[in-house]
Amino acid sequence: MSFGLNLKRFLRGVVADEITEEEAYRRVYREEALCDGQPDVAPDGPAPASGEVECPICGNRAGRFLPFGLDNRPNVQCPTCGSVERHRILWLYLAGQTDFMTRPARVLHTAPESCMEGRFRELHGDGYVGVDRFSAGADVETDIKALPFEEGRFDIVLSSHVLEHIRNDRPAIRELGRVLRPGGWAVVMVPYDPDNPTYEDSSIDTPEGRLAAFGHPFHFRVYGNDLPARLSEAGLDAKVLATKDLFDAETRRRFRLNNNHLLHCRKAGRNRPASG
Ligand SMILES: [Zn+2]
Repeated sequence: MSFGLNLKRFLRGVVADEITEEEAYRRVYREEALCDGQPDVAPDGPAPASGEVECPICGNRAGRFLPFGLDNRPNVQCPTCGSVERHRILWLYLAGQTDFMTRPARVLHTAPESCMEGRFRELHGDGYVGVDRFSAGADVETDIKALPFEEGRFDIVLSSHVLEHIRNDRPAIRELGRVLRPGGWAVVMVPYDPDNPTYEDSSIDTPEGRLAAFGHPFHFRVYGNDLPARLSEAGLDAKVLATKDLFDAETRRRFRLNNNHLLHCRKAGRNRPASG
């Protein structure tokens, strides 16, 4: 696998409007890059120089991970599967704190990350559905603001770093809630600032302006502490979980996890067993 995308040159093309949004996403999904851009991704303290790091997704062990992102953050990307911190956080959360890895379920995965998609598909078989706006690799190419699934179709929804890319996020959140069955659960990850309300400004409407304001040319906001309220409008009862509370210091060091957050959401209603 190659991670050779020149992010700085790529970004200049995006900002100059020489690369369209669709082309940018198609290239990004091929290369799994330019996907974070969140302001709170500073590494959680430097890893010891000789400290061995490990990718929980592919099992790769290394002295250090590769640098990643526009600012070339050191020691971030697994050279084997391409995972960065938020992928490893999601994986470890699902493996350690849910029954995702042991119980086949009907899973909707939005914008499936290539480092995890194959494994999830193995685990859940035909129950697994990946959707994406632009990726030909997804099962269904669709806009999540209008999902082609019936109400309550899924036991589990995974949506990591998708909602901030959507200009009007409420219809998308509503759709995620709609296709989840009562008693089902979802994990939502976004650029998240726990100390402030969501920062968004519809007058900022160029890739360059969004890069300056939100840290990424195609992000429309940085979410804040009102996100649980937005999710609750869609029937999702959300709990904000910080990585520093989910994982001990040694786990954060070993797998190179950063200060980050995920939202575990539950849809109210009768719990019933997942069917395969
Ligand atoms: Zn890996």
